[in-house]
Amino acid sequence: MERARFPAVPLAGQPASCSCARGGTGTREGYACSCRGACDPFSPPRAPPARPCLSFRVLSSPAVSRGLLSTFLSHSLAANCLPSGACTQTPVRLLPSFSFSPPNAARTDGRGRRGAGAQLSACLLPRTTEQPTDAMRRESLGVTSSLLVRVPVLLSRLAGRRQRSSRTRSSRRPGDAMPEKKKPLQAAFCGEAVIAEFEALTRDAAAVQRDTLRRILGDNASAEYLRCRGLAGRTDAASFRACVPLATHADIEPYIARIADGDTSAVLTAKPITSISLSSGTTQGKRKYLPFNQELVKSTMQIYRTSYAFRNRAFPVEDGKALQFIYGSRQFTTTGGLTATTATTNVYRSEEFMPTMRAIQSQVCSPEAVIFGADFAQSLYCHLLCGLLYADEVRIVSATFAHSLVLAFQTFERVWEDLRADIRAGSLSPTRVTAPAVRRAVEALLTGPNPALADEVARRCAGLSNWYGVIPALFPNARYVHGIMTGSMEHYVKKLRHYAGGLPLVAAEYGASEGWVGANVEPETPPESVTFTVLPNIAYFEFIPLKATSCHGGAAAADDDTCYAEAEPVGLTEVTVGEHYEVVVTTFAGLYRYRLGDVVKVAGFYNSTPKLKFVCRRNLMLSINIDKNSEQDLQLAVDSAAKILAAEKLEVVDYSSHAEVSRDPGHYVVFWELNADGNDDVLQSCCDELDRAFTDPGYVGSRKTSGIGPLELRVLQRGTFQKVLRHYLSLGAPVSQFKSPRCVGRSNNSGVLQILSANVVKVFFSAAYD
Ligand code: AMP
Repeated sequence: MERARFPAVPLAGQPASCSCARGGTGTREGYACSCRGACDPFSPPRAPPARPCLSFRVLSSPAVSRGLLSTFLSHSLAANCLPSGACTQTPVRLLPSFSFSPPNAARTDGRGRRGAGAQLSACLLPRTTEQPTDAMRRESLGVTSSLLVRVPVLLSRLAGRRQRSSRTRSSRRPGDAMPEKKKPLQAAFCGEAVIAEFEALTRDAAAVQRDTLRRILGDNASAEYLRCRGLAGRTDAASFRACVPLATHADIEPYIARIADGDTSAVLTAKPITSISLSSGTTQGKRKYLPFNQELVKSTMQIYRTSYAFRNRAFPVEDGKALQFIYGSRQFTTTGGLTATTATTNVYRSEEFMPTMRAIQSQVCSPEAVIFGADFAQSLYCHLLCGLLYADEVRIVSATFAHSLVLAFQTFERVWEDLRADIRAGSLSPTRVTAPAVRRAVEALLTGPNPALADEVARRCAGLSNWYGVIPALFPNARYVHGIMTGSMEHYVKKLRHYAGGLPLVAAEYGASEGWVGANVEPETPPESVTFTVLPNIAYFEFIPLKATSCHGGAAAADDDTCYAEAEPVGLTEVTVGEHYEVVVTTFAGLYRYRLGDVVKVAGFYNSTPKLKFVCRRNLMLSINIDKNSEQDLQLAVDSAAKILAAEKLEVVDYSSHAEVSRDPGHYVVFWELNADGNDDVLQSCCDELDRAFTDPGYVGSRKTSGIGPLELRVLQRGTFQKVLRHYLSLGAPVSQFKSPRCVGRSNNSGVLQILSANVVKVFFSAAYD
C-alpha cells in the first residue's frame, strides 16, 4: 500500500494536513485520506478548540490522480476550515461517505444521463449552530476551480436556505407553522452523490460482495461461531460455504440466548453485541431474538439515503417535514443486561436517526415523546394532531408499513372532530391523551387557540366524499405517501390509494430485523409491481434456487412446509431472471448463511445487482394434505372474491385464514372483516369464489375427490382486527411492525384464532364443487 502526505493549507496559522493511502481493489481502489485540521474529531479535545477545524475521510476513485486529489483536498480545507470564529465550538464533519469523480468521467447516471459523475458532491454535516458570516461565504465562494465549485456553492446555499427558512418561520404563527426555535444548520443532502455511490457499488456487485464477505469474516474471525466451524481466518466465498452451513433461526437461537444472558465473549461477532432486536412475531406467532449492532444502524441510514435520493429525483421535496406514523416499542433489559426492543426502535433511538431524517427532508412532525409514548392510541392521536399543526409543511406522509397508514386515516375518520376541537381550544383533550410527557411535548406545540386552523380542517374535510383523497386535502403540499406496501401489506394498497386520492404511493424498502436487503430505486413504479434492488455492500447474499414441485413428495424432495425443491445456493450476481429464490444473508451483526424465510423472484438487474420482487414468506401456508397455498395465493383468492363485494360497495377491511383439520375431511377457513353488513347471497357467492380461486392442483384435486371439505367463510364482527392488534400489543409486539397474521393455527397464534372464532357473526360454506 502506497502512502503519501499531501500539502496542507494553513488554517489561520494552524497547520492542517491530510494523510492518504492508496489501496483497495475494484470499485474500492483509490486513495483513502484522513484530513485533520486544528482539532481532531476522531479524538476530540477536552476543551472546545479555539480554532476552526475539520476532519473528513475521502475515498477517491482509481482514476483520480494524486495531483487532482491534492488540489481537491487543499481547496476543501480552504473552503471548509473557515477563518477563526467560524466554527470554533464544534467541528464541521462530513458524512462518512464522501465521493467525487474526475470531471471527464464518461459515465451515465441511473436514467442514462451523462455527466452526473463529473459533479463533485460533498455532503456537509455542520454541527455548528452559528450562521456563516459574510466573510466565510466570500472565502468559500472564492474557490474557483470548476471541479471544486460544489463545496462552496453548497455552503452558500446552506447559508441562504437557513436565512430563508428562518425568515419564513418567524413570519408565521405557531399552530400553523414551524416552532420559532433556532435550529442547527441542516445537512445538505447530496442526492446525486448518493446515487453516484450507488451506481459505483452496483456496477461490479460481485467484487463488492467479495469485499463485503472479506470484511465480515475478517472482522469476526475470532467469533466462536466461525472458529468452531474451522474457517481459520479464511475470508473467501468458497471456504465460507464449505465450512459454514446454512442456518435457520432455530440453529442460532442458543448463541443469541447466551449473548442475551450476558456472555460477553466473542460468540457471534468479535465485538460484543450490545442490543437485541425482536422480530415482530406477527407472522409466525413467535418473536425472535436477533443480534443488533451499530453496523445495522449504518446500513439502515445507507438504505434510507439511497431510497430518498431516488425518490427525490422523481418527486423533489424542498424544505419540509414528514408526517410519520412511527412508534417506538417497549424496551426491556435481558438477564445479561442488554437492551431488547424492535429493530425499528433500535434505529429510532440511534444517534443517527434524527439527523438523517433532517438531512433527507423527512423530519418527523411529532416530538420524540409521541414516537416513544407508551400508549399507541395516544401516540397515533398526537401524530395526527402534529401533522395538522404543520399541515402546509408536510411533504411526505409515511409509516413503516402501509397498515399503519390505513389505520391512521381510519382513526382520523373517527376522531377528526376531537382533533379540530383541540386545535380550536389550543389544548389537548384530557381524555384522549393522558400520558404527562406526551401531553407536555404536544402542548408545547399548541401555542394557543387557533380557530382559523380548526375551521380550515373542517372545510377540507367537508369537501370530501367518503374520505377519498383525505391525505392531499389535509396536506396540500404533500408529494407522496411512503411505506412498505408489498407482501402482506399489499392488501392495504387499495384503501391507501383511496385516502391518497391522486397522490403517488411509493413502496418502501425490503428488509427484516435481521438486516436490509434492497431499496426501491424506481419510486414511480406502482406498489404492485415494485422491485427491490439489492445493495451489495450491506450484507453478503446467497440465494437458494426454488423450483415449484407437484407437492406429491418423492424424489422432488420438497421440504416440509413448501412445494419447492431446493438447489445449491448461488451468489448475488449468479441469479437468473424469472426464477424464485429464498434469501440467505450473512450480516455484520453475526448472522452467517442465515435463511430469511422469504421467497423472492428475480425481476431483472440494475447494473450487475439483482432487482427482487417480494413473493411471500415461505412458511405461511394453507395446507391440509397434498395441497399447498401460500400467502400470495390466499391474497389472490381474497382479491378475486372481493370483486363481487365491490359491486355492493363493500370491502374487506382485513382477513386471515386457518387450515381446519380437527374434523375429517379438513377444510380451509377464511376470516373476513367487512366495512359494512353484506347481503347473504352476495357473501355466499364470495365464499364460492374464494374456493374456486385456489387453483393449486393439489387443492383442486382434493376438493373434487372430497379429500378436502368445502371452504368456509366466516364473517367477523367489525373491529375484530383491532382486537387482534390490541392482543399483539398486550404481548409486547410493536405496532410499527404489525402485520395481520394471514394464516393462524392452533400451535402458532392460538390466541388470535380464539379472538377470530369468538367474533364470528355469519358462516358460509362453499358450494363451488357441489
Ligand atoms: P420483521 O423482522 O418481523 O419486521 O419482519 C421482516 C419480514 O417482513 C421480512 O422477512 C419480510 O417477510 C417482510 N417484509 C419486510 N419488508 C418487506 C417488503 N418491502 N415487502 C414485503 N415484505 C416485507
